Amino acid sequence: VSKRLAGKTVVITGASSGIGRATAFEFARTAPQNLKLVLTARRIDTLKEVAADIAKEVGDGVRVHPVQLDVSKPEQVRGFVGGLPEEFRDVDVLVNNAGLVKGVAKAPEIAEEDLNVMFATNVTGLINMTQAIMPIYLKRPNGGSGDIINIGSIAGREPYVGGSIYCATKAAVRSFTDSLRKELIASRIRVMEIDPGQVETEFSVVRFYGDKSKADAVYAGCDPLTPDDIAEVVVFVAGRKENIVVADTLVYPSHQG
Ligand code: NDP
Repeated sequence: VSKRLAGKTVVITGASSGIGRATAFEFARTAPQNLKLVLTARRIDTLKEVAADIAKEVGDGVRVHPVQLDVSKPEQVRGFVGGLPEEFRDVDVLVNNAGLVKGVAKAPEIAEEDLNVMFATNVTGLINMTQAIMPIYLKRPNGGSGDIINIGSIAGREPYVGGSIYCATKAAVRSFTDSLRKELIASRIRVMEIDPGQVETEFSVVRFYGDKSKADAVYAGCDPLTPDDIAEVVVFVAGRKENIVVADTLVYPSHQG
């Protein structure tokens, strides 16, 4: 795996915390020589800390480029590839991880702002990022090559009360991912999805608008996954031989089955 990933350029959205941050570390640990990581999120200072922590752990064989990017802003996504330094532009792996849930409410009570931010980030943001990277992939031989790894959710398969919009966004991610994979069937572009179940991250803090005690209560008495558990799966699928597509993976903690 280390050899297959060596020299690759990996772009991760939402790399400032949780699964995205852990994924950056996992790529760096797995391929500590000649890997290029482009880490993106809105919190640039946090991304810079992630970059420094990676350098501390694996040394300078991995080059890390943090970029402030709000995926829900199409104009920022449009300028993203052109704004990368030349040596980071030949992207091989895109991990579309940025995403969020806002609130727990039945459909009539969902705030318009929450609805819009969930779709703009989880769906339109993911699609826009994919469209931004695809021209790089399509220029390569055999109809193109490169990886798109979308982080969906168990919520896209098993809707729950109070989460109708979040569930709808993740169902949309599944549908987009499956369609795109079919469109690209004749190429070497691999379109893959990983759907986590419950993972303990800042996700629930965001869901409850920063209320840490409500967030902590979500994980009380259960044994959620850690961000590393999902990061290992992301690097596993990216590290397969190039003719292997691990198309669709559901990973949840045993209590959630
Ligand atoms: P975190 O809240 O810890 O991480 C979310 C990341 O997304 C942060 O780095 C955040 O960075 C980034 N982000 C949010 N909005 C934007 C935006 N508009 N533009 C760019 N980056 C953004 O949560 P997780 O790690 O848990 O979430 C990662 C993914 O996993 C999400 O897609 C989520 O839906 C999915 N998931 C999570 C589960 C869980 O139980 N935790 C279960 C199933 C799926 P910043 O604020 O700096 O922009």
